Amino acid sequence: MKKVIFLLLITFFTLSLTGCSGSKEPKDLLSKIKFKNKIVIGIKNDSKPFGYIENGELKGFDVDIAKSVSKMLLGDKTGELIEFVYVTPESRIIDLNSGKVDIIIATMSINTTRAHIVDFTSPYFVAGQALMVPDGSRVNSIESLNTRKAGVILGTTGEKTIRQLAPNATIIGKKSYNEAFEFLAQGKIDAILADDSILYGYIIDNKGYKILPARYTKEYYSIALRKGKENEALKEELNKMIDFMQQSGRLNRIKEKWIPNLHKGA
Ligand code: GLU
Repeated sequence: MKKVIFLLLITFFTLSLTGCSGSKEPKDLLSKIKFKNKIVIGIKNDSKPFGYIENGELKGFDVDIAKSVSKMLLGDKTGELIEFVYVTPESRIIDLNSGKVDIIIATMSINTTRAHIVDFTSPYFVAGQALMVPDGSRVNSIESLNTRKAGVILGTTGEKTIRQLAPNATIIGKKSYNEAFEFLAQGKIDAILADDSILYGYIIDNKGYKILPARYTKEYYSIALRKGKENEALKEELNKMIDFMQQSGRLNRIKEKWIPNLHKGA
């Protein structure tokens, strides 16, 4: 009998301990990330030079920001404590708000519509929307797209801008930058409206295209988090990090590494 009671007690303690470790997982996201010793980050894989794959390796400006985050929060020197999840402009807010990712670092601009459903840190980069056209194109302004075909990436701020500034354009929405670029190369669209920072990646890799000089918006890239109290401590840490990276010149060094000529006439 004593043995049975002893076994029951052991079982009870084991169960309650296991239960404890589960229920002890903190609610606050910053503590949770530290508790799990892992951070799940939504990132692009088709947006050179921000998030892209080369020789099987994920790299870019946003990847460097992600590594800085993991280093600051987890002391992670190599980025091995990050789980990257690839997101698209259409999927990223759903991936964030469903809990699939902890944060998003994916060329994502702050805008008022998005700010109703997600939270943003202070910006870490400023891009501007521009048009990319083939050399020799007759497109010389966004208005001239009113009688032509304009390519945009679905779910981006560019999709919104084209509707405002060239309402009579035939808008061709593509799911990825590569698909839009293929359409441009095949002459199926006359221009792509997108962030100069991402178009720049195509200009570097492909001869025969140019980015027109006009910029139609300012795109403040920021890290997106879920709304709510449990994300506030993390947001505060991320803002401190961005501030420090700005002050220390680290952000500028990352910019020089990935987009040295962006605002120098590329
Ligand atoms: N920065 C723009 C946006 O947030 C476009 C870049 C992108 O995410 O593809 O919509």
